This record gives sequence, structure tokens and C-alpha cells, in this order.
Amino acid sequence: MKTLEKKAAIVTGGGSGIGRAIALAYASEGAAVVVADIDEAGGKETVGLITRQSGQAIFVKADSSKPSDNEAVVKACVEKYGGLQVACNNAGIGGPAAVTGEYPIDGWDKVIAVNLSGVFYGMRHQIPAMLKSGGGAIVNIASILGQVGFRTASAYVAAKHGVVGLTKNAALEYADKKIRVNAVGPAFIKTPLIQKIDEKQLVPLHPIGRLGEPEEVANLVVFLSSDKASFITGGYYSIDGGYLSQ
Ligand code: NAP
Repeated sequence: MKTLEKKAAIVTGGGSGIGRAIALAYASEGAAVVVADIDEAGGKETVGLITRQSGQAIFVKADSSKPSDNEAVVKACVEKYGGLQVACNNAGIGGPAAVTGEYPIDGWDKVIAVNLSGVFYGMRHQIPAMLKSGGGAIVNIASILGQVGFRTASAYVAAKHGVVGLTKNAALEYADKKIRVNAVGPAFIKTPLIQKIDEKQLVPLHPIGRLGEPEEVANLVVFLSSDKASFITGGYYSIDGGYLSQ
């Protein structure tokens, strides 16, 4: 039996990298998937990859930093698939690289809007739909940088720490209402997001001796999204090749 059969799922930022791997993994576990992304071509490609394998998916163009777009994604899911049981708030950007005393204000605003407010706006609309659907599971994609700092990345680090706090709070509020909320914290994963950073500098940061693959993150997200994780809520789960144990 597939672990997400008869469930409808949303993945934000599902048009690339980790989000695409999660959307594919959700579909292969039987979920009907709403792929939301600001990148129409990438999002539609993910849907194509799913439907070619006989999975169910639709694309909704959405900017996760806009509350009304998040509302529209949830509405599309409920209209097409009759409810909402699973959501992964994954859309995110890296932002500028600069020390805090020189960090561009507009860059700060953008990173906080997409990486932190986007997760709140997502849950703000997903939770009411999940309550109507009888419960559900939310996984928010944080980062190892939701636990520790990283020079020149203050906006990203602050946003990801915020995602971890937001996750705990929502988990507390809905633990007795059949909605579980968890955060996943990847270390550096091979996706377009980190293309500009020299891999040779990143690999030694990981005791395991390599970067992660999007599919490895997706495996953890699928587990947390499924009923196999029925007693798990409010947690932060690193997937980091040992990065945080140093
Ligand atoms: P990615 O390959 O760049 O994919 C992110 C997707 O989100 C892209 O399709 C991107 O579109 C889209 N997106 C960007 N801004 C958006 C917005 N405002 N609304 C909706 N979609 C938007 O990145 P990734 O590495 O898979 O990252 C996914 C998540 O994992 C992010 O939250 C990231 O912070 C987190 N993460 C990544 C790593 C890593 O090393 N890769 C490590 C830890 C955590 P565009 O391509 O058009 O921008």
C-alpha cells in the first residue's frame, strides 16, 4: 500500500530542485499533487514528469510571498482534488551574500518575504482547508541554517530560524486537531540554488564527504507527511551528512 494514497498534496517551489523531488515522491506514493511555483516552465515540467508516470498533478503559478497566491493554490487543490491533506512549504531563495553591516535592505525584505512570510501565508491558508478535510500533515523546508549561522547570509539564517519557530507554534496549536507540523533542515543539496557556490568549498563542510541529493530530502519529507509519522509533530529534522554534529 502506498503511503499517501487518497491524499491531496501541495508543494510550493515544486518546479525545481528539492521541491520537484518532493512532488515526484509524493506522486509516486499515491498523492494527487498541486505543484505551485513562480516558474511556470519548471512547474509544468514537474507536472509532466508526474503525469507521464501515470501520477496525478496540476500546476498553479504562485508567488509564495503573496498571501492571495497561497489562497489560490489551496482553492485549486480543494476544487480539483476535493480537499487538502498534505502540504510542503518549500519555495525559497538564497538572497544576497553580504555581512550584516552591509546587507542590502531590499535583499533582506525579499528573503524574509519568500522564505519566512511565504511559509506563514502557506500555512495560514492550508490549515483551514486541512481542518475541513479531517486533518493533515505539513512539512516546512527550513535548513541547517535554521539552527546555526553562516557568514554573509543573515537574512536566510534569520528566515530559516523563523521557519523552525513557526513550525513549533503551529504544531502546538493543532496537535489535538489532527494536523501535524514538522520542519526539515537540509545541509547543502545539489540544486540550482547553490550553483553559484564552489562545490569544492562546500563538500568539506559535510562529514559524510559529499553534498546531498534532492531525492534524499524527499524521502524524509514523504515519511513525515505520511501516517507512518503519526506521533511526530513540532520537530526539526536535519538531513545534513553530519554538518550539525561538528
Ligand atoms: P531551487 O532549485 O532554486 O528551487 C526553488 C524553486 O522555488 C524554484 O523553482 C524557484 O523558482 C521557486 N521560487 C523562488 N521564489 C519563489 C516564490 N516567491 N514563490 C514560489 N516559488 C518560488 O532551490 P532548492 O535548493 O530546491 O530549494 C528548495 C528549498 O530548500 C528552499 O526553501 C531552500 O531554502 C531549501 N534548502 C535548500 C538547500 C540547498 O542546498 N539546495 C539547503 C537547505 C535548504 P525560480 O527558479 O524562478 O527562482
